[in-house]
Amino acid sequence: MSGRPFAVGDRVLLLDRKDRRYLVTLIDGGAFHSHAGFFHHADLIGQDEGCQVRTTGGAAYIAIRPTLADFVLKMPRGAQVIYPKDLGAILLLADIFPGARVLEAGVGSGALSMTLVRAGAHVTGYEIRPDFAARAQENVLAMLGADDSARFSVTERDIYEGIDETGLDRILLDLPEPWRVVKHAASALAPGGILLAYLPTIIQVAQLREALVDSPFAMAETLEVLHRGWHVEGQSVRPDHRMVAHTGFLTTARLIQAS
Ligand code: SAH
Repeated sequence: MSGRPFAVGDRVLLLDRKDRRYLVTLIDGGAFHSHAGFFHHADLIGQDEGCQVRTTGGAAYIAIRPTLADFVLKMPRGAQVIYPKDLGAILLLADIFPGARVLEAGVGSGALSMTLVRAGAHVTGYEIRPDFAARAQENVLAMLGADDSARFSVTERDIYEGIDETGLDRILLDLPEPWRVVKHAASALAPGGILLAYLPTIIQVAQLREALVDSPFAMAETLEVLHRGWHVEGQSVRPDHRMVAHTGFLTTARLIQAS
């Protein structure tokens, strides 16, 4: 929450002069160490966001609360996360709304989970790896706090074997063989429900799209999100030299009544 001074337990993003970013959790008696000495967490507690702190060696840091995107890029990860550029698009492509009943598999590090929960969805996650399931739960709790995290649960199971839930609004997949979920998704989703899959290779997309052709899903679409940052400094105003050229393809389809 912004507008509130920093307190013990808050996550804080520290930016140094070179725009390097560090995520810390404020604790009683804690300290942040850098190449140029340290500062005490107590120096931040009670201060407003955007304040500056200096280490004993004179290095200056701006302290601000992390956005969801900052947190996703800095949080502890087990599995590879879905990047912010795709997370934003997923919210609209899957038409996530407050109160939506969403099934997500696999859960991985929980980047997509926290995005969905923060948008107001009730999320059930299926994850085959217990260590990832635990990590995702910790990450969602750390980012969103206990109240919002109550709308997120993870069960340790293989979604290829079936889905128990019925009447779901949305099913979101980030796993290697989503075509094996199409049949289960058709009986777990409510009519008009949306299936979305994130896939790194176009071969996988082709296989999923083929499975969707012989299914009660329609309106299948696939796209990728290209995000090109710009360098803006004095007379030098141009696209950045580097960009993330590829992450994954997003495929959506809607459940209609089988003819
Ligand atoms: N979307 C996640 C990352 C998911 S990584 C994020 O944004 O953080 C893919 C995850 O799918 C891994 O954790 C893997 O263990 C899990 N997985 C793979 N096959 C699965 C299956 N059949 N059922 C459930 N989870 C599966």
